[in-house]
Amino acid sequence: MSYSELNNGIKIPNIGIGTYLIKPVDAERSVKQALEMGYRLIDTAHIYSNEKAVGRAIKASGVKREEIFVSTKLWPTDYENENAVEESLQRLGLDYIDLLFLHQPGGNYMAGYKLLEKAYKEGKIKSIGISNFEDYEGEDEGKGKFMEEILDHCEIIPQVIQSECHPYYTQEKLRKITEPKNIKLMSWFPLGQGDANLINEPVFTELAKKYNKSNAQIILKWHIQMGFLVIPGSKNVDHIRDNFNLFDFELTDEDMTKIEAINKHKKYFQKTVKIIEHM
Ligand code: NAD
Repeated sequence: MSYSELNNGIKIPNIGIGTYLIKPVDAERSVKQALEMGYRLIDTAHIYSNEKAVGRAIKASGVKREEIFVSTKLWPTDYENENAVEESLQRLGLDYIDLLFLHQPGGNYMAGYKLLEKAYKEGKIKSIGISNFEDYEGEDEGKGKFMEEILDHCEIIPQVIQSECHPYYTQEKLRKITEPKNIKLMSWFPLGQGDANLINEPVFTELAKKYNKSNAQIILKWHIQMGFLVIPGSKNVDHIRDNFNLFDFELTDEDMTKIEAINKHKKYFQKTVKIIEHM
């Protein structure tokens, strides 16, 4: 396993398990299995309705709390609720959260950001994140400079931005803003939500053969070597195991360049508003 350091000095595992669309009963089992296998980063969200299950899995795992990195997210309807952080802590059964995100723009997100800053100062959260705050693209470009607005008005800069990112869409524009500030990108849909077109790209099949790995493992390793944090979602124990088994090989610069060539500069989701509909 490998770790990165956030811009506030906090250590974060480079790979974790995602729990989007995973029902509580499956999330509890999968997170427990993941912790047994050595995962130490878990990503959940209020809107996923599985924070309680994640909390139960953490308790049952017997792994020390300080070894586990929990990231969760407030939904826009939480942004003006003074008790939102406390309620998330209660659902998780924890006394601090390692990384708390605003899930997406919408509602009073500046008020939401202030809630995060307050919780950070009180020690209830150890790092601050924003998710899906990049500018729209295509015909909507320039209509939502959410990230810039946060950076202009914040007291504490975010440590992480969680956004869609995979070899078909590598967030170059966003990274021009975040990388100079050492704001880490955490990739969601790292496997294109399991899209066979992405996973079966010939370049991944070729590299999988070269390293005796699966195509998915090549993609996940690519994320880590790009400097991204990665949280593949799965409730399948074999996939959960495979997705963590990434640390016995390295992609070369030439491999990375080949992967770069399949970039379509296209998201699966085109607009933030579609994410709201999707949830
Ligand atoms: P993903 O790209 O991780 O794909 C998950 C799917 O890929 C699984 O359902 C499975 O079908 C397939 N898969 C997983 N491991 C595989 C393997 N080894 N081989 C072949 N197929 C495999 O998509 P995701 O789970 O939606 O995204 C990852 C995580 O990101 C989520 O679980 C969630 O925690 C987070 N997320 C955040 C947002 C946001 O708005 N902030 C949005 C979506 C997801």
